[in-house]
Amino acid sequence: MLSQVVELIENKQNFAITTHVRPDGDGVGSSLGLCWLLRSLGKTAEFISRDPIPISYTLLPGADEIRIVSSIDKDYDAVFVIECSDITRPGIKNLENQFTVNIDHHTTCEHFGTINWIDATASAVGEMIYNLCKAIGGRISKEIAECVYMALVTDTGSFHFPNTTDRTLKVASELVKVGVKPARISEAVYNSYPWSRIELMRQVLDTVKRDVSGKVARMRQTLEMAERAGSVDGDNNGFVNIPLAAREVEAVLYMRETAPNAYRVSLRSKDNINVARVAEKFGGGGHKNAAGCRVEGDWDEKEKEILAELIKAVKHSGNGFVGMMEELELTLA
Ligand code: 5GP
Ligand code: MN
Repeated sequence: MLSQVVELIENKQNFAITTHVRPDGDGVGSSLGLCWLLRSLGKTAEFISRDPIPISYTLLPGADEIRIVSSIDKDYDAVFVIECSDITRPGIKNLENQFTVNIDHHTTCEHFGTINWIDATASAVGEMIYNLCKAIGGRISKEIAECVYMALVTDTGSFHFPNTTDRTLKVASELVKVGVKPARISEAVYNSYPWSRIELMRQVLDTVKRDVSGKVARMRQTLEMAERAGSVDGDNNGFVNIPLAAREVEAVLYMRETAPNAYRVSLRSKDNINVARVAEKFGGGGHKNAAGCRVEGDWDEKEKEILAELIKAVKHSGNGFVGMMEELELTLA
C-alpha cells in the first residue's frame, strides 16, 4: 500500500524502475515521472526497460536516459515494477530475486511484489505517481508533470474513456498549471505516426465484420498486412477503438497475428460490458472496458470461441439488451 511505498523511499537510496515489454504511454510516463520524483528527493534512480520506448514518448524529459537491459545487472535497494500483471511482464531476468514494488491500477494484477500498491480506481498509474508525490511531500516539477500528463492522456484516450474521473481531471489541471502544454503532448501521441500506420489501417478496417445484431464487431490483422504496409511497432495503436465510434457497436474483438498460429487479442467495450472477465477466460486480463490476452491455434476457431464469450458478456451486461437477446447471433455479416 501507499504508506509502505512512502516509507521505503524515505529509508532507501538506490532505485530502479521498470515497466512491461513494449511499453505504452502510462508505462513510460509513470516510470519517468517516478524517476524524476525520486531524484528530486535526492535518491539515485534509473529507468530500465527490455524494449526501447515508442517514438511518440521520446519528447518526455529523461527518455534519452532509459537503459535497455535483459537482466538485472546492478545492485538496487528496490526495483519499482510499473503496470505489470505479473513478474514476467517486464521481460527482465533475475527480477524475481529483487526487492520489488508492484505499482498498478489493474484489477487483474497478481500481488507479486515485496510491496504491492494497487489502486483500481486510478485512471492510470500516472495518477498514482501524482498521489505518491503529494503523499511524500514532493513538489510537482515540470518534468514530473509532463511525464504524468502523458500517462493520463494515453490511458484515458484523451480523457474520454470511462476511467476518467473528477480526480483525473483535477490532477491534469494541476499538471497544466505547472507548465504542461496539452497540445504538444497530444501532437506527439496522435499526429506523429509514420505513413505505414495509414496503410495498415486501410487493410485492417477492410476486415471489419459485425454479428447480426450489429453490436459486436471484429477485426483482423495478419502478418502479411503488416509486412505489406511496412509497419513498425505501435502503428496499430488504437485501431481496436475505431469500430466503437459507431453508435450501434458495443464491443470489439481485434486479433493480430504475431507469428503463424499465434495472436494478440484486444477487447474493448462500452458501459457495463466487462471484457476483463472475457480476457481472463483466455489467460489474459485488463480493465472492464479494455482488456487483452494471447492465444494460439486455428484463427477461425479461436475467434469463434472468443466471440461467443464476448457476445455472452454483452448479453449479461444489462446494457439495454433486455428482449433483444435472440438477435445476438454469432453469424458475422
Ligand atoms: P491492449 O488491447 O491495449 O493491448 O490492452 C488493453 C488492456 O488489457 C491493458 O490494460 C493491458 O494491461 C491488458 N492486457 C492486454 N493483454 C494482456 C495480457 O496478455 N494479459 C493481461 N493480464 N492483461 C493484458
Ligand atoms: Mn495503465
